[in-house]
Amino acid sequence: MAGYGNQPIYIVDPSKQHTTGKDALSVNIASAKAVAGIVRTTLGPKGMDKMLVNIMGDITLTNDGATILEEMDIEHPTAKMIVEVAKTQEKIAGDGTTSAVVMAGALLEKAQKLVESGVHPTVIVKGYTMANEKALQVLNDYAITVDRKDREMLERIASTSITGKASEMAGNHLAKICVDAIYAIDNNGVVNVDEDIVIAKEVGGTVHDTELINGIAIRKEALHSEMPRRIENAKIALIDTELSFSQTSTKSKLQVDRAEQLADFKEKEKANFRAIIQKIIDTGANAVFCSKKMEDYALHFFKEANIYATRRVKDEDMNILSHSTGASLVRNVNEITADDLGFAELVEQEDEHEEKTYIKGFRESRTMTILIKGGSEHVTDNVERVFDDALHVVKVVFEDGKIVPGGGASEIEVAQALHNYASSVQGREQLAILAFAEAVEEIPKAIAENCGFDAIDKLIDLRSKHATVKNAGLDIETGNIVDMLEKGIVDPLRVKTQAIKSASEAAKMVLRVDDMLRARRQEMMDVDPEHNIHNYDM
Ligand code: ADP
Ligand code: MG
Repeated sequence: MAGYGNQPIYIVDPSKQHTTGKDALSVNIASAKAVAGIVRTTLGPKGMDKMLVNIMGDITLTNDGATILEEMDIEHPTAKMIVEVAKTQEKIAGDGTTSAVVMAGALLEKAQKLVESGVHPTVIVKGYTMANEKALQVLNDYAITVDRKDREMLERIASTSITGKASEMAGNHLAKICVDAIYAIDNNGVVNVDEDIVIAKEVGGTVHDTELINGIAIRKEALHSEMPRRIENAKIALIDTELSFSQTSTKSKLQVDRAEQLADFKEKEKANFRAIIQKIIDTGANAVFCSKKMEDYALHFFKEANIYATRRVKDEDMNILSHSTGASLVRNVNEITADDLGFAELVEQEDEHEEKTYIKGFRESRTMTILIKGGSEHVTDNVERVFDDALHVVKVVFEDGKIVPGGGASEIEVAQALHNYASSVQGREQLAILAFAEAVEEIPKAIAENCGFDAIDKLIDLRSKHATVKNAGLDIETGNIVDMLEKGIVDPLRVKTQAIKSASEAAKMVLRVDDMLRARRQEMMDVDPEHNIHNYDM
């Protein structure tokens, strides 16, 4: 494989891609398999990390499948399609991206063997569709219902997602934060993680210092020592423009003959500016956040009116403030009214020497902030990725109330059910269903392999133990096959069903490409890498 640096990874050279029929299929399968191969070694709690280096030389160290695939420079359209699988998985289930991609690669690998032995891709597509439906049904029956109030179970869900991505001690702390955050943004059983949870990062301290803040924290302080630092029932103005002299004066050209004229002009400018500040004060605001420059001259008036004011607030923070407090972003201060103000129960700069202001207690929204701490930017970035998965898995279980045992248990359940099902199916589809079962088993195999165990041995152990212990999965420390539910290693049902759906969709898509080529006889396949679609010359 080519390097991760400024060299794009050509799984195969797209320019030599003009292949047809079975050749096209094997080229496509090869590139899908290559992508799956890259993330396979990261699967599970003992998965290895990948080092990604971009053109600027920035380094990302991660074993998060979604991140790796997102950052990797991939050229081949089929490989890109597999990356899309990961994105869909991430969007719908929030986790399980590596599993989905590994399974997609395995489904295609097995399909290729079948094609080579004379099974038509259409038959495989049909068999995979049947297997997919059966697998989903099996998973639904296998799932365990949990109460969304079951905090301990939600913490286990978070922990399973975090394991291997943060140290164990920190992992427990982070899992607790996830569950606290989800409970705090609960809106009648629905949680909107992306809108209501803000992730902020601060280099300093350790991961253990990561905290959940009820509200927002921005890195700003009151601009004048005599401004109030604690405002209850805050009426918040968000000024999204400069508060400066030049900004408020009329833009007409000035001809100055005498020094007095200039002084006169300066006076006028000040008076105009003063009037603008008064407009803000007149709305009844008692906390002013300005996204741009704010003239020192303004501070005096805000201070006199007992208003907290701060400036150069990041756009990102302005948007969060607007979403949470309901304040509008005011660009034309001349038109500001009391209707533009937002509300918070409290605006407070707790420590007068620290550049940090908390905004808490909103009416319409329930924004929470997770303030990530860590020794370096690499650490905080990594913890952010951990939260990205963990918050979503907790959300999914909170909403669906369904889990399955982890450590390969659910995959073995599905594989065994598919084996039984296959024998009831007439025709060559049976072979595809068996291939599907084997592809699903690649997940426990990869987890075992990444722990340094023999994958075949562990698969055999898992299969035989599963007959008596339904929740049997792989203990990554000892290599024993144990009850995963008892060990508290659990995954959301939705992550597992979606992984199977995404993987089989992707595999079928690749298999069908060959079919379309056959329908158009020996024509060349032209690939448009920009648009990620296939065009066929007429
Ligand atoms: P994905 O991107 O697919 O979520 P991960 O690297 O997060 O990939 O691995 C997820 C798999 O690891 C799941 O099948 C899960 O059950 C398994 N797993 C997580 N923690 C453990 C553990 N402590 N013991 C065994 N398996 C585990
Ligand atoms: Mg995961």
